[in-house]
This record gives sequence, C-alpha cells and structure tokens, in this order.
Amino acid sequence: MSEMDSQEEARLRLLDTVDASPCEGLDRITRTAARLFSAPLAVLSLSLRDEQWLVSSTDSSLTGQKVPNRNAPCVAITRTGQPLVIPNLSDHPQFSECMLRDMGVRFYAGAPVTTSDGLVLGSLSVLDMNERPAGSMEALADLASLAVAQIELRRGMGRVDPFSGLPNRGQLLEDISNVRATIAVELINTRQVGELVSVLGSAYLDDFVRTTSRLLRDLTESTDCRLYHIGAVTFAILMETGGTDAARDLVVQIAPALQEPVLCKGVEIPTSPAFGISPAGYPHRTGHDALRAAINSAQQARETAAPYVIYTKDGDVASNRRFRYLVDIQEALHRQDQLSLVYQPRIDLKHPDIASAEALLRWKHPEFGDIAPGEFIPLVEQTAMFPEVTRWVMRTAIRQMAEWRPQDLKARISINVSAIDLESPNFALCLSRYLEEQNVSPSDIELEFTESAVIGNFARVIGQLKDVRSLGVQLAIDDFGTGYSTFSYLQRLPADVMKIDRSFMRRLEDNLRDRKLVISMIGMAHDLGYRVVAEGVETRGAYDLLAEAGCDEIQGYIVSRPLTVDRFTQWMRDAQQKHREIARYKDLVGLPVLRSY
Ligand code: C2E
Ligand code: MG
Ligand code: MG
Repeated sequence: MSEMDSQEEARLRLLDTVDASPCEGLDRITRTAARLFSAPLAVLSLSLRDEQWLVSSTDSSLTGQKVPNRNAPCVAITRTGQPLVIPNLSDHPQFSECMLRDMGVRFYAGAPVTTSDGLVLGSLSVLDMNERPAGSMEALADLASLAVAQIELRRGMGRVDPFSGLPNRGQLLEDISNVRATIAVELINTRQVGELVSVLGSAYLDDFVRTTSRLLRDLTESTDCRLYHIGAVTFAILMETGGTDAARDLVVQIAPALQEPVLCKGVEIPTSPAFGISPAGYPHRTGHDALRAAINSAQQARETAAPYVIYTKDGDVASNRRFRYLVDIQEALHRQDQLSLVYQPRIDLKHPDIASAEALLRWKHPEFGDIAPGEFIPLVEQTAMFPEVTRWVMRTAIRQMAEWRPQDLKARISINVSAIDLESPNFALCLSRYLEEQNVSPSDIELEFTESAVIGNFARVIGQLKDVRSLGVQLAIDDFGTGYSTFSYLQRLPADVMKIDRSFMRRLEDNLRDRKLVISMIGMAHDLGYRVVAEGVETRGAYDLLAEAGCDEIQGYIVSRPLTVDRFTQWMRDAQQKHREIARYKDLVGLPVLRSY
C-alpha cells in the first residue's frame, strides 16, 4: 500500500468514528464563519470516500446531508490540505462544472479541517451567490481548527470507559493497526459475570472493575504499551514496541498480581485471569480480526488451563470449529441422521429387576464426524437455542420409551438438563405434554441437573424443579461433589437421587481419604433422603466397596458403556430373561450386573 493510500485509509477509519449527531458547538462555528464573511451560507463538511458529509451548516436543512463529491472544491481542499478561494466559480476552469455552480453559488472560500496528526478530514467553507473578493482566510483557518478540536473532543468523550477511566474498544480499534502484539486479559470467566452480579449486585462489579483497572494500570505503567478496557471484565494491552516475546514476558510478570482475590466493599472476589496474545503480522485483515484473535486465544487459555495462549492459525481453526458447532447444531436438529441418543445402563443393587439408564446425546457432524458431548454441549448450553436441543432429547427418549412398551420392555430413563432449560418458563409444561402425547408415566422419567445449574437463578430454577417433581418426575443431582454445595444448600434442593461424580471413583481403591469421603457422602445423602448413584465405576474393586458402603445404584463401564438403542434394547431383554430365570430358580447368586459389552 502506498503512503498516500495508507493515509487515506487512516483518514477514512478516523471518519468512521466521528460522532455525527447535531452539535451546537459546531453550529456556532459555522455561524461565526458566515458572519465573518457576511455570507449567507457556511458549511462544515467531511470528505468521505465518494461524498461530502455536511455535519453542520447555517442552513439547518442541509445539516446531516450527504452529497456526491462531483468535482466539489472541498474535495480539492481535502486532497491538497490547502485553503482555497474562488471569487467566481463560473470563471474557474477547474470548477466550472461543479454542482455548487449549477445551484447558483459564485463565491467559495474554504479552509481545511486538519487533525493534530495532519489528517485532513474535510473543510469549513463559506459560500455566496454573488461574486466577491477573498475575505479573511486566516480567521477562517482558525475557525476550522476550532471545529477539529470540537470533533476530537466529542470523539474522545465516547472513547473512555466511565468506570475504569481507560480508553475503550472503539479507541483500541483505531489504535491497533500499527502495534506489534495485542494481549487480551479476561479477569474472570465472562460466563460467571452474570452470576457475580446476581449474587452480589452490580455495584460490586463496578467496584471490581475500578480496582482491577487501577491495578492493571500500575502493572503496565513502566512498559511500552497501552491499556484498554474492552468488555465488562476484559482488558486489552497493545504492545507498541516489543512483539510476541515482550507480550509473553509482560503476561508472566503481571499474572501473579492478577491472580490474587480482589477486595470489593469488604468482599473478596476471586479472579481467574486468562491471557491471549495475538502477534502482529498474521494475516489479520482488520483490527477487529486482530482483537478477536487475542480474545479467542484468551478463551482457549481458559478452556485448557494454560498460563497464556499465543494465537496460531491452528488455534483459529479450532475456534472457527467451535463457532461452526453453534451454527450447525440448528441444522442437526432438523435432520434425521446427525443426532442420536445412547443409553448407559444403571444397576440398582437392591432392586435388580428395575432397569434404568441415562440417555446421552451423540452428534455425528457431516464434516467433523463424531463430536463428544463435552466438546459441544458446554458451548451450545450458553445459547438460547439449547432448550431446543433438550426438547429434542426429551422427545426422542420419551418416544423410544413408548416404542419399548409393546415389546414388554420398560426402563426408567434419565435425561440431562441444563440451567438454561430450567430457567425457561414453559419447560415443565413441555415435558408434561411429551409424556402425555406418548402416554409415558412421569415416574419412568428422571431429570439430572448439576448444582451449578441452580446457582444462577435459584428461585426460578427451584420453582421449575418443583413443578417438574409435582408431575411425578424424579430428580437427580448430577456430578455431585464438583460444585459449591454446602449441606444447607443441598437441603433446599428438591431431588430424589444424588449421583456422586466419577472423579471420586478413580482412587477409591487405593486412597483411604477418598474412600472415607465417598462413604460419608453416601451416609449424608441417605440422611437427607436421597438414593445414591455412583457414576463412572470402572473396576470390580470399586463396585464391591460401593456395594458394601450401601450405595444404591451403580453406573459405569463395569456395568456397561453407553449403548446404541438396539444394543440397549437387547441388554434389557437379556436382563429380563435373567431375572425370570432367577425368579424361577430363586437363585440370587450372580445377578446380571456384570455384563460387558
Ligand atoms: P454426565 O451426565 O455426568 O454423564 C456421564 C458421562 O460419563 C458420560 O459421558 C458417560 O459416557 C461417562 N461415563 C460413564 N461411565 C463411565 C466410566 O466408567 N468411566 C468414564 N471415564 N466415563 C464414564 P458423555 O456421554 O461423554 O457425556 C458427557 C457429559 O455431557 C455428560 O456428563 C453430560 O453432562 C453431558 N451430556 C450428555 N448428553 C447430554 C444431554 O442430552 N443433555 C445435556 N444437557 N447434557 C448432556
Ligand atoms: Mg448425567
Ligand atoms: Mg454425571
């Protein structure tokens, strides 16, 4: 790009950010210009790519209009950066064709509106219908510089965040083009911001932002960089000299201080900063691309618990892929061949004749193949389309249950639901309609929710859970032991079943502490009236320990991996057959629990 082109680009970018709403300050300047020349019309115009933007005029009907450039004298002023006086447009060889002349204008005087960086934005012009000699061009130039000061002041006002006092995203996008590297800093998981506000109130968030921006300012002060506040809890640092290495050094240097909890109005708010770095020189087409690369890298750092992530093309491919999930899931919901349910059997140690299973979602993407639920559900769960996914799961599972009925097969199926489902007002109604349509008993359905699903909007979610339970549907707390639960909290949850998270099962056999913990969890759950399911049980040793500790049900690879619908149907048939035999021979040894598939 030639220097002239890049100047023009910078000029147009700057014009893109100008506040063009009516402004008394600018109108006063145009009025003064008209008075100075005793002329009937003065106009302040900004030169866009193909048109003139009349941001202020003594004729209010012109203010805000955009008119085509068509050989206008203001275009010449923008190009040369020099004032221009034309006593009579009709006589002028260059402008004899211009639109102003056709409108009857004869006299034209204009001064360039030039920023402190030397970019010419447009001109301040005075026009008259009569030919006349040149007036005081110096005074007109002074007024033009007053106009530019006013424009810059207005831009500045919209470019600083009022809470942090730092330049904002708009300012960053303007400054980003020539930097060596961009760092994005997300102080806490943005998904938790809503939670923080709902638990503590927005005043704490404001205080958090004020305190952390002061801290960041102190931490970056001695480095050749600029700090911006670009989102509720997200900041960006533009490295003006050193590149990626300097950015990484800076991250390593500032990270420890940002990992300390922040004291806001007497409450300690824990932080979990994530850092992403986007180097200059990547084929970022725009400032938006460079910033997005840094923010995506920070999110990747959060997901992978990395101290920081430096943007690479591969990382970008991964983040584009995540974006595709969000778009493509909508199509998947309306196709027959992409989504399916698998069923993972659960064994009831005390009532082995009761068959039950957890329905788990599977997605075969037309391009990416099988995608694990852990990869797409946490993403889609954050969006408003997730309830549709859950409705698909509920409808499919309930239809399947109806299909088993004529085959004399019956299982209680448990379905996973997320916070966003329980927050949507017609969730319970929807479920009861599906059950009615297929004539499936609510007591054959169980819903699994995690403790974190309840935290965000406690009252509404609990209300919804109570509605579901009053239908006769069972409720299970999933992944127990991984959330924030306290005893008193647990007591307030309407649930029938507690599923102990599989992370506790791994060391059950060799770690005495974990074993004691699981035993006491089982005891506590029983005291609160819950049935207990152990998830992710993989070994015979763990299975025996859990049975001995009084655990009610077991789910895990030791029993069976999740099965396709056909294989699960066969599994139920086999189990039923075995029970019939057991009932016949009254032989309770060797219950059909340890099948491997
Ligand atoms: P979850 O609800 O805790 O489901 C249990 C997960 O543990 C399943 O993973 C299952 O395959 C796995 N698992 C079961 N037994 C064992 C074992 O012995 N060892 C090991 N290592 N893993 C075992 P999956 O199917 O990958 O699902 C992961 C998570 O995705 C689920 O965890 C659940 O949170 C979510 N999910 C799956 N389907 C749905 C759905 O339809 N709706 C919602 N909201 N979430 C779903
Ligand atoms: Mg589950
Ligand atoms: Mg679970």
